[in-house]
Amino acid sequence: MPRKKNKKIIKRKKEAIKKKKAVSVKDKELRAIKNEKYVAHLLRGMRDILPADQTYWDFVNNRAKSIAAAYGFERIETPILEDYNLFERGTGMTSEVVEKQMYDFIDKGGEHVCCRPEGTPGAVRAYIEHGMFNLPQPIKFYYCGPMFRHEKPQAGRLRQLHQFGVEVVGSEKPIIDAQVIIFSRAFCENLGLDPVIEINSIGCPTCRKVYRRKLNEYFKFRRKQLCPDCQRRLETNPLRILDCKGKECQELSKKIPQIIDYLCPDCHNHLTRVLEYLDEAETPYELNHRIVRGLDYYTRTVFEVFVRRPKVESQLEPFLSSAEQEDLEETQGLKASPLAPTQEGPRLAIGGGGRYDNLVETLGGKPAPSCGMAFGLDRIIEELKIQNIKLPKVHGPQVFIAQLGDMARQKALKIFEVLRKDGFRVAENFSKDSLRAQLESAHRLGTKLCLIIGHQEVLNNTVIIRDMLSGSQEVVDQDKIAKELHKKI
Ligand SMILES: [Zn+2]
Ligand SMILES: [Zn+2]
Repeated sequence: MPRKKNKKIIKRKKEAIKKKKAVSVKDKELRAIKNEKYVAHLLRGMRDILPADQTYWDFVNNRAKSIAAAYGFERIETPILEDYNLFERGTGMTSEVVEKQMYDFIDKGGEHVCCRPEGTPGAVRAYIEHGMFNLPQPIKFYYCGPMFRHEKPQAGRLRQLHQFGVEVVGSEKPIIDAQVIIFSRAFCENLGLDPVIEINSIGCPTCRKVYRRKLNEYFKFRRKQLCPDCQRRLETNPLRILDCKGKECQELSKKIPQIIDYLCPDCHNHLTRVLEYLDEAETPYELNHRIVRGLDYYTRTVFEVFVRRPKVESQLEPFLSSAEQEDLEETQGLKASPLAPTQEGPRLAIGGGGRYDNLVETLGGKPAPSCGMAFGLDRIIEELKIQNIKLPKVHGPQVFIAQLGDMARQKALKIFEVLRKDGFRVAENFSKDSLRAQLESAHRLGTKLCLIIGHQEVLNNTVIIRDMLSGSQEVVDQDKIAKELHKKI
C-alpha cells in the first residue's frame, strides 16, 4: 500500500478514536453530575474464571508446560500491550483480526497501541530485539497467556481469550513443520481429546500470486453471489473468501481450483517432505485444500487442529444448540471443519498454525523462516467439560483444625502454622464459632482427619484427633500431633 494512503488511514483511525474518547469523557462527566450510585460490572465480552473452574485451567496449563518442555520449547513471555504496527505489519492488513477485531487505542503519550490479538508477532519481535539470530538456530519458544479480540458484542464471544502456542524460529526444514504437527497431536492426546489434523500448503509469495489470480478469476464470475465483505476481499485478498462464514460464500468455496496444482516445484517438494515425515512417524492427517488460515504471514504449510467428539451417548451432556455452537466456534475466530463428515459427530476447531517464512524479515529482522501453532485454551476447556473428561485427582487437605472458644482459636492458629511447616495440607474455618459448622466444612473438603481443640484441651495441652469416617476420637498431647497424624495418613 502506498505510504500516503497508509498515513491517511492512520489519521482517520486516530480521529475516530479521539471522537470515541470525547464521548466517553462526556459520559463520565454526566454521570458525575447525576451522582449516580456506581455498580461494578464486568466489561462486555470479558469473563471471570472462578475458583471452581481452576482445576481445569491448572490441568491444561500444567500439561501444556510439560509437553512443551518435552519437545524442547522454552517459555517466553511478551507484554500484552504492543505497538499497533506490529500486528498491522505482522498479522496483516487484510486479516480479519486486524481489519475488525483489534483492541487498539491511542495512549496518554499519543502512541497507537493495542492489546495483542495473537502471540506470534510478539515472539518474533522479541527474537529480533534480543538478537536471538546470533544463537544456534532454530529458537524454540512456547507461550501461554491472554489474547484480546474486539469481537462484535454478541453472546458467547470472548474478547479476552487464552492461547498456548509454540514457535520454531530460524529453520525452513520440512521436518520442523512435521514435528510441530506431531506436537499438536500429542498435546490433544495428552488431554484425553481425539484430534484430527487437516493440512494444506498455501505456497510462497511467487506461486501464491499465480493461484490468487486463478481464484480471482473463479470468484469474479460469481461475484454477485458473494457477500459484500467478500466482494471487497476479491480485490484485496481472495484467499480470505475461503474463511468467510457466509453460507453462499462457503458454498462457492467448495469448488475452487486446488492450490496444490499451482505450487512451484520448491513448495511442492516441501509439502511432500512434510507429509512423508508424518507418514514415517505414523501421524494421521487429512489434506484439505480449503484451509488457508486467516492471517497474512503464512507461507507453505498451514494446518488446523480439530477434536472429534465421541458419538452422542446418553451419559454425555446434551450437545449445544446450533446457535450456541456457532457462537462457540466464533469465540476463537476458528470455524467448524468444512470437511467434517456427519456420521462421526461434529469436529470443532481448537487450534492451528503453519509456516511463516517471511515474517521475521517483514518485522525488520534478518530472514529467518519459521513455523508455529497455537491452541485456544478456552475452547479446549469447554470441550473437556462437554466430553466429560475426568481430570486427575487433585490432592485436597489431609487434616482439618476445628476450634471452640477464644483461647482454642489462638492455639489453633499456631498449630495450623506448625503443621503446615511440617508439610501437612491443613484446612480450617477459623471464622466459624460452632463446632458443627466446622465439621461440615471438613466434610465438604473431604478431609479424613480432624483436630478438635476446646477450652479443656488448651488447659491440658492436648487435642482431640477425630476420624471423620468412623467418628472415633482420640486425645493426644499437642507435641505429638505430627507423629500421630503420620501414623494415620
Ligand atoms: Zn512456491
Ligand atoms: Zn463472504
